[in-house]
Amino acid sequence: MSHVIAPPAGGIVPVAGSAGETFPVHRIYCVGRNYVEHAKEMGFTGREPPFFFMKPADAVLPVAEGETGRMPYPSLTKSLHHEVELVVAIGTGGKAIAAADAMRHVWGYAIGLDMTRRDLQGEAKKQGRPWDIGKSFDHSAPIGPIRRASECKVDAETRITLEVNGRVRQQSTIGKLIWSIAEIIEHLSAAWELQPGDLIFTGTPEGVAAVERGDVLKAEVAGVGRLQVMLV
Ligand code: MN
Repeated sequence: MSHVIAPPAGGIVPVAGSAGETFPVHRIYCVGRNYVEHAKEMGFTGREPPFFFMKPADAVLPVAEGETGRMPYPSLTKSLHHEVELVVAIGTGGKAIAAADAMRHVWGYAIGLDMTRRDLQGEAKKQGRPWDIGKSFDHSAPIGPIRRASECKVDAETRITLEVNGRVRQQSTIGKLIWSIAEIIEHLSAAWELQPGDLIFTGTPEGVAAVERGDVLKAEVAGVGRLQVMLV
């Protein structure tokens, strides 16, 4: 048996503080509207059940700490938005995982950006069409190195921030997640069997806005990592 084309490389993310270790990506799940103030700015209120969308695994744009990643400004859009998010990396798979057991499935954490062609997503919403063209494009998931959970202290006070060209655009704490990491894993694993290598983008706080070519985005989850990306 032989492949008829070269097997695709797939998404790979470096492991923080390691000598060349990497985390191969299986799938990228994203949670929609998971901070109250962001749900409000998108025109929604109240605690709705969590909902999910996916990005292709090879949409990751891995950026080593201390480096500046280069994200190509995507085609078809005039409104590319940033969404800074805490990313959870799954090390142990499973289905129908109870929230009380969920955290042992977490291998580590990273800082990520759920980049969004907001105009195309808005049009898709209006038409009742899938979000893929707005969310699941090439290089739409810039991500910093994944740090082992045992080396991170992620709790309600953990700060998440995004600066664009040196000015703070998004700022919150992980305690403001509507659905906690454990609850997200419970809901996700009821719908899909989670696999080692899955990444979960846990949702963005308020302050999403457009960026342009030449802008520099600097994101951080305190105690987890930093990510710097320039749009080119
Ligand atoms: Mn998002």
